[in-house]
Amino acid sequence: MGISLLTFCYLVASVTFILGLKMLSDPASARKGNLIAAGGMVIAIIGTIFLYEDNGENLHNYGWIFGGIIIGALAGAFAARKVKMTAMPEMVSLFNGMGGACAALISTSEFHRIGLTTSPAWDVNSMEDGGGSRLLVILLGLIIGSVSFAGSMIAWGKLNGRIRDFTFRGQHLFNIILLLVAISLAGYLLASLSATNFYLFYVVLALALIYGALFVFPIGGADMPVVISLLNSFTGVAAACGGFLYANKAMLTGGILVGAAGTLLTILMCKAMNRSLANVLLGSFGGSPQAATASKDQGSYKEISITDAAMVMAYAHKVMIVPGYGLAVAQAQHACHELEKLLVEKGVEVKYAIHPVAGRMPGHMNVLLAEADVSYDNLLEMDKANEEFPTTDVVLVLGANDVVNPAAKKDPSSPIYGMPILEVELAKSCIVNKRSMKPGYAGIENDLFFQPKTSMLFGDAKKVLQDLIAEIKSL
Ligand code: NDP
Repeated sequence: MGISLLTFCYLVASVTFILGLKMLSDPASARKGNLIAAGGMVIAIIGTIFLYEDNGENLHNYGWIFGGIIIGALAGAFAARKVKMTAMPEMVSLFNGMGGACAALISTSEFHRIGLTTSPAWDVNSMEDGGGSRLLVILLGLIIGSVSFAGSMIAWGKLNGRIRDFTFRGQHLFNIILLLVAISLAGYLLASLSATNFYLFYVVLALALIYGALFVFPIGGADMPVVISLLNSFTGVAAACGGFLYANKAMLTGGILVGAAGTLLTILMCKAMNRSLANVLLGSFGGSPQAATASKDQGSYKEISITDAAMVMAYAHKVMIVPGYGLAVAQAQHACHELEKLLVEKGVEVKYAIHPVAGRMPGHMNVLLAEADVSYDNLLEMDKANEEFPTTDVVLVLGANDVVNPAAKKDPSSPIYGMPILEVELAKSCIVNKRSMKPGYAGIENDLFFQPKTSMLFGDAKKVLQDLIAEIKSL
């Protein structure tokens, strides 16, 4: 009875994971989808704690279990409430690393069970039927989980500026050799585990950790979100290994879904930047966030005052707002929505052009604008927005830079060449708000700022929007 009820719990959990993931694909249902999947996870956890049986016995060490759950839940809830939207990729990376560490710890504890249950201890030949494939899954979970943990920690450190890029000549070759040695040792253990060589398990663990760190070290700062998404898919696969070990269907489904979703997201992000995964992993695009500086002579640009910008927008037929990373930094989404409402009251058609990699994480702008209750119907995806720019009177670029840089289309020597961009220069005029002439995350200049149709409106996005609102109200 217990087992069938537990299987039912896992089935319910698996269905909620799939439903939740489906609902996450639309901003309107994403929040609900998240809650449904989280509800399913609670059912799976409670079911496991009270219904799981090992050799006919239920779990009994409730003090440890609930102690861990309470500490983890408090730390997670506190971190999630406190984190700034711009630091979200850091937090995702940290949490993802914890998932990888869990998978590696599960493998370690299950490996020790082999030592306890074989006679003589650690003798691979005396393992029960299926013991070999169990050891294979343990080693897979160990390697993938450790790589994911170490890589995520380095990505976290690079994103928050605590860890700098670190490269040396021949690093990629060294990394490949390291990984091959770890895999070969794991293969050796699989074939001939015994009391004299079981310690090699820890050598594999150490090599996987070093590989995870060295794999992420040389990757450029601007590509960190792609790497985090890739590591996220690794953690999914490592968790699925745990699902195999415990015949836990919810863990298996959850792991596979995370693995597949992470892989798809990685591919989509690479596609949105028009770069291959190999180019992301082997290049060092963007460097660290602090490394970005303008290089060549920037020529002349023209500025526009708040009053003139307010007039131009208030008397336009159609205004397109292009939000970018700076909008998130300034937390200007509410002011932005207020400006939109004010312009609409004045009879102006207002829409938002959303680039898939604007900001610092996938869907960053959608999440930000949803927080300010901007209607999803007004958000245009890149292709649709590009169709509408020629009929747009004013484009207001708010803290965006790389995603509107024409060099992506025109300059083959540019590091972002080939990345699809929002073609704002097709509109009749363009107002760019940022604080200075400094480049964006890719660290390159933007010719858009020097074009005759473009006017620069310097200042913090929130302050500028508040001033624009006040000015338009007074018209
Ligand atoms: P960028 O990072 O290119 O530019 C942001 C601009 O905002 C800066 O030039 C900065 O200029 C300005 N800014 C910063 N703070 C403020 C403020 N308080 N008020 C006004 N402006 C401000 O952003 P984009 O969104 O255009 O591009 C995103 C970049 O991130 C791309 O290179 C993309 O490839 C990369 N990326 C994004 C991923 C994603 O998933 N979204 C994933 C991987 C990479 P100034 O300092 O002068 O104010």
